[in-house]
Formats: sequence, structure tokens, C-alpha cells
Amino acid sequence: MARFPGFRLDGMRALVTGASRGIGRAAAEAMAEAGAHVVLAARAKDELDEAVAGIAAAGGSAEALVLDVTDTASVRAAIAAAGPFDALFNNAGINRPQPFLAVDEATYDEVYGINVRAAFFVAQAVAKGMADAGRPGVIVNTSSQMGVVGGPNRAVYCGTKHAVEGMTKAMAVELAPHGIRVVTVGPTFVETALTAAAFADDAARQSVIRRIPMGRPATVEEIAQTVVFLCSPAAGMVTGTHLLVDGGWTAQ
Ligand code: NAP
Repeated sequence: MARFPGFRLDGMRALVTGASRGIGRAAAEAMAEAGAHVVLAARAKDELDEAVAGIAAAGGSAEALVLDVTDTASVRAAIAAAGPFDALFNNAGINRPQPFLAVDEATYDEVYGINVRAAFFVAQAVAKGMADAGRPGVIVNTSSQMGVVGGPNRAVYCGTKHAVEGMTKAMAVELAPHGIRVVTVGPTFVETALTAAAFADDAARQSVIRRIPMGRPATVEEIAQTVVFLCSPAAGMVTGTHLLVDGGWTAQ
């Protein structure tokens, strides 16, 4: 009988950005349930405290870290103080859908500033902590199905998520000698604050669902447990690639 590495995260110290709500919060809860000590980072202190209390009430281990990921100096200081980490779910992100011909510079800079620039320097700070401590680790960057295909009103968002795919591959190659894996998770539409506007209108909602062969959005739980898998020893040879959780969207 073979011995299997397993899906548990016991003994791991994990950082989750964008953990105050949505996909990040669910992933933090799932990682804690899988045995990790989880540091939940975002700007909204009350929501972080509520999430940490929920994890503690369920028997897990977690703490809150109030952090604006666009403030690189604070990111470096906070990660140096709270680390080293064994796992990062690099998930804070935004979308500001606009028709391509109407995209303004402020929106472009805002979305790239969080989805690409901040994600890059958060990953760099965490990887530096891992490498300096000489411990292996895993970085899961949140991409999207829009990191693989295009979509209407998403020229900026798709550009950022394709950038996340690219930097993930390069980081994976460079960090592999340190035993650090780097992957992305690529959700289809999930009902969160980020997609509330897209799902508010029934016609728009139906047009999204028609594009998903599975016939429904993904749930935050389904993305969260994919992240647990990617962080776990079971994914020990998975690096430099993406795992799409898109219900078949990109298969068409
Ligand atoms: P959400 O519910 O709006 O949550 C976004 C999270 O990012 C919040 O916790 C927010 O916390 C945090 N955040 C935003 N700006 C931040 C900043 N400057 N500093 C620190 N934290 C910041 O969105 P979501 O749907 O869970 O999305 C999470 C990730 O999944 C994003 O990268 C998104 O692109 C990706 N994604 C989402 C979908 C979807 O359909 N929902 C599909 C594919 C990919 P604070 O506001 O408290 O700071």
C-alpha cells in the first residue's frame, strides 16, 4: 500500500490577504480547519476580527492583520514581523469593469496597483521570509478564468490576471531551488461583493450562467478547498501552473 502525503496543513503558518470577506475569508476558514495557523490580512478590522473569532469558535487558530496591500513599506514590515510563513494565499483583488474604449487612467492604475503590483510585492516579501529562514513553502496567487481568456468590459481586469499568470510561472522557476512552489487558482464567477453588480441584474446573471457548462457560479467553499489542496503536501509537485475552478467556462 502506498503512503499518501495527505491534504492536511497541520503545523503550517499561513498568510491570507483579502481575508475580510468573500473567497479570502472562506479560504482562511478552510485552511484553519485543515490545521494551519492563519493570519488574516485586509483593511477592514471589524470583519477580520469577526472572521478570527469564528475560526477560534470552531477550534481553529488565527489572528488578524490590518494591512493595506498597496502600501509596500507596511507590507514588508508586517510580513517580516508576522512571518516566516509556510503558505501564502495572495488573494486581495478588485475589479472595476469598464468598456475598453472608456477605460480611464485612474481606474487602470487602481486595478493594476492591487491585482498586480501589490500581489507581486506581497509574494516577494513572503518568499524572502521563506528563503531567509531556509524553509520550503507555497504561494497561491488568485488569478481567474479571466487570466486565461477575455471578457467584455474586462480589458483591465483580464490584463491584471494574465500578468498574475505570467509572474507565477517566472516565480515558480526561480523559487523551486528553495523548495517554494508558486501556483494560481482560477475561479469562474463566484457570488461575492466583487460580483454583486454583475449578478444584480437578472439578464446579466443568466448570461453569465449560460457560459458555465456546470450551470451555476462556483461557491467560495469550492475555491477555498482548492486552495487547501494546492497548499497541502498532496500538491507537492504542482508548481508554475494554474488550477482553474471554472465549471468548464474555458473548455468551450
Ligand atoms: P471581495 O469579496 O470583494 O473581497 C476582496 C478582498 O480583498 C477583501 O477582503 C478586501 O478587504 C481585500 N482588499 C481589497 N483591496 C485591498 C487592499 N488595498 N489591501 C488589503 N486588502 C484589500 O472579492 P472576492 O470575490 O472574494 O475576490 C477575491 C479574489 O478573487 C480577487 O483577487 C478577485 O480578482 C478574485 N476572483 C474573484 C472572482 C469572483 O467571481 N468573485 C472570480 C475570479 C477571481 P478590505 O476591503 O477589508 O481591505
